[in-house]
Amino acid sequence: MRASRPRSTESLINGRYSHSFLAHSWLEFYAVQFAQNLRARWTIWQRVQDVGIGRGEILLSFDDGPHPTVTARLLDVLQKEDVRGAFCVCGEPVRTAPDLVRRMASEGHLIANHGDHHQPLALFSEEALRKEIQNCDLAIATALGIAAFHTDFYRPACGLWTSIVRRVLVQLNKRVLPVTHFGWDTNVNRHTYRNWIAITQDAARRDRGGIFVLHDARLRFWLESGYDPNDQESSAYRGWVPDAAALGRSWQ
Ligand SMILES: [Zn+2]
Repeated sequence: MRASRPRSTESLINGRYSHSFLAHSWLEFYAVQFAQNLRARWTIWQRVQDVGIGRGEILLSFDDGPHPTVTARLLDVLQKEDVRGAFCVCGEPVRTAPDLVRRMASEGHLIANHGDHHQPLALFSEEALRKEIQNCDLAIATALGIAAFHTDFYRPACGLWTSIVRRVLVQLNKRVLPVTHFGWDTNVNRHTYRNWIAITQDAARRDRGGIFVLHDARLRFWLESGYDPNDQESSAYRGWVPDAAALGRSWQ
C-alpha cells in the first residue's frame, strides 16, 4: 500500500479484470454472480478487480464529513501513519468546518464530492442532483479559497447508482468514486471495534486490497478523553488506519 491512496486517480477507473476465484459449488458461484451483478447495476459497489486500484493497495475513504472534532483527530492519525485517504465531503459540514477541508488538501488527501446535503432523492432528478453536486463543489472551492476548484470524483449518497447519476456525471465531467468493501464502522463501541477491524482486515487480505467506506462521525472512540495521536496503545489512537497501514506495508 502506498499509504492508502491509489497510485493515481486515473487508476481508479482504468482497472482491468484479472481475477479468478474458486467457488465452493456451482450454486454458490451463480448466487454470488447474481448478487454481484445486481449490486454492480444499481449501486457504486464494485469488485476490487474492476475499480482500477493496484493489487495490494487499500484506499480508506471517509464519508459524510468533515466532522468538527473527529475529522481533526482522524487527520492526525493519517498524518502520523503517513497515509493518504479519500474524504467524500458534503457541502453543509464543509461550510461549518472549512479549515478541515484546507487541511485535507494541504496534507495530500483526495477530496471527493458527496453532495451538498446528502440527498438520496436528488439522485432521481437531474436538476436536483446537478445542484447538489455543484453546491458541494462551491462549498469546497470557497473553503479552499480557490474559485476554480472542482472535484474530479463524486460518490452518490447511500451509494445508489441511477441513470440520472450517470448522465449528470458526464455533464459535469466527473467520475464516480466506487466502493468495494464496507469498513464496518457502524455501531462500533470500545468493546467491539477490534472485531470489526479484524473483519475489515480479513476482507482486505482475501481480496488483496480494496476501497473501503468509513465515516468520520462514526469513529466515535476517537472522542475518548485519552486521545493521544502519538500513543499507539491508547484506544483513541486505534482504528482502521494503523491496521490498514500495517497490512498495506506488509504487501510492499
Ligand atoms: Zn454518505
